[in-house]
This record gives sequence, C-alpha cells and structure tokens, in this order.
Amino acid sequence: MSQNLETVLADALEELTDRIREEEILYKPDHYGDMISELADSHVPVYTSEIMALANAPAIYNMENELGGDTLEAQISGRIYTAITQHLYDGLKEVIDEIFPECPICFDQVLEEEIDRNDGEGEGCCDGCQDDLDEAEEEELTEAEEEEAEELAEIEKESL
Ligand SMILES: [Zn+2]
Repeated sequence: MSQNLETVLADALEELTDRIREEEILYKPDHYGDMISELADSHVPVYTSEIMALANAPAIYNMENELGGDTLEAQISGRIYTAITQHLYDGLKEVIDEIFPECPICFDQVLEEEIDRNDGEGEGCCDGCQDDLDEAEEEELTEAEEEEAEELAEIEKESL
C-alpha cells in the first residue's frame, strides 16, 4: 500500500476527531496530549518501504532531526511522528469547535447534550448558566410573593 504524507496526516486527524467525539472530553489538555502522542505513534507506518516512501515529502526531508535515531529509517520515522503530532495539535482547536457547541450565554464550549437538555424555551445553554437562570427566576418569584404578602397585609391593616 503506498501512502503519501497528506493521507497519513489526514487519517490521524480523522481518528483524533472520532476519539474526541466518542470520549466527549472537554478542557483536558493532558488527556489530549496523551491521545495525540498515542495516535501519532500508531499512524507512523511500520514497514520500511512505507516509511522510506514518506521520506520523499519536503515536510519530512526538510525537517530537523529532533528525535535522533541511529538509522536513516529511524530518523525518518521520528520525523513522521513529529509531523503527525504537529498536524494534530494544529487541528485540535478546529476539531473541538466542531464537536462542542458554544453556550450562547457564557460562550463556554460544552457537550451538545447539555445544550439540548436545557433547551426548554428557545436556545439551550450550559448547566451553569441554566442554574443561574433558575435561581434568578426563583428570586423573582420570591420577590413577587413578598410583594403580594405586603399588599395583603396592608389591605388587612386598612380594613381593621
Ligand atoms: Zn453558559
């Protein structure tokens, strides 16, 4: 199977997207870091012929040899790993934006189901904002009740 670098990078990014969608992880840079390293590892080709075929890409042969390696093959495979890692970090923001909708109130990115869950009237928002809205509504109710009670007390007073 002959691959070019673009395909390898695109495949890795696609798998990153699937994984994030599956695991629904938000705001965990460490977790993304581990996931990216793991994916980069698994997307570096295994066979010498495939590795050497990718050496043909300028992004690979022009790259500094940061990861070392005793053989040319090890050096090329290290650069492929670096290229994939870089590509995944570059694409991460867009992937997250695509998967997690923004709360229309606080603009935090949250899980889609959170937005759906709070979609009572009109636009849904995050759980935090929904709590604030509920609290504000309760306060308003209490205030209205207090006013009503005061009015009643006033009427009672007058009728005495
Ligand atoms: Zn919010």
